[in-house]
Amino acid sequence: MKNVVVIGAGTMGNGIAHVFAMNGFNTTIVDISDVALNKALATITKNLDRMIAKGSLSEEQKQTTLANLSTSVTMENAVPQADLVVEAATENIDLKLNIFKNIDALVPAGTILASNTSSISITKIASVTNRPDKVIGMHFMNPVPVMKLVEVIRGYATSDEVTETIMTLSLALGKSPVEVNDYPGFVANRILMPMINEAIYTLYEGVAGVEEIDTVMRLGMAHPMGPLHLADFIGLDVCLAILQVMHNGFGNPKYAPCPLLVNMVTAKKLGVKTGEGFYVHTAGSKDLMVSPNFKK
Ligand code: NAD
Repeated sequence: MKNVVVIGAGTMGNGIAHVFAMNGFNTTIVDISDVALNKALATITKNLDRMIAKGSLSEEQKQTTLANLSTSVTMENAVPQADLVVEAATENIDLKLNIFKNIDALVPAGTILASNTSSISITKIASVTNRPDKVIGMHFMNPVPVMKLVEVIRGYATSDEVTETIMTLSLALGKSPVEVNDYPGFVANRILMPMINEAIYTLYEGVAGVEEIDTVMRLGMAHPMGPLHLADFIGLDVCLAILQVMHNGFGNPKYAPCPLLVNMVTAKKLGVKTGEGFYVHTAGSKDLMVSPNFKK
């Protein structure tokens, strides 16, 4: 496996491309937005510089990594040479089904198609291709260059051989892969999202304030970040979308998103990406201030 194409240059796409390029793969990032592609290259360069400053990367390795990277605004140019495609586009089922239908028609029969989806069924994505045995979930965690876990999700038809290839590849990327089956939320989000939703309910019902809830979970449970702070990082729109997939998929009211989360997404208070969620996030500042909406 030599040529990897990453679809989507956002938060996850740039991190995934960073890790593949740093490990010697010819990596092409495809995005419909030129702005997103330029931003991704700038972010990767900044993150490589941070690694140099920490002593975990040499200047030469940085240059080799950057030389392994290219970008494209069309799939037609980049995808036909791919040995592996990792899709990390916006979490929207129709968009992903469309992308997989298109890629399937462009790549050689042996190419493996992976999705970084947080919650959309791999079996459903595979069903729009002519190679359901070669479609798999490769769920990296944010920030990708730092986080060790890759949740490897087997769709209903994913072959043993393809699962083995992706498990081995994840190890070669320096990650720790864990194999799971394809049910709503997989494992990571099935456990994480109800906790975040419960933290939002705790705030909504006035049991405690934003900082108090996060402090209890940080100091009491040794979580590195409180659940409300983490939700701001993930994006409240992403949290809502995942809860909706689990609510619809299981039909169990325990996954129903808290009305406060729904309101915040409707008001476009999405967390870090819009500058405000449960906290106010000022670009370049490490200071954390509770949003005026939740000030006591
Ligand atoms: P993002 O919004 O930061 O980036 C999505 C990118 O996809 C954008 O740059 C957009 O221009 C691009 N895009 C949209 N349509 C496209 C198309 N047809 N072709 C090519 N590019 C297209 O999103 P993100 O947070 O990086 O999430 C990407 C995927 O990763 C989602 O499936 C999400 O659920 C999953 N994920 C996110 C996180 C997280 O913490 N953000 C963690 C794990 C997995």
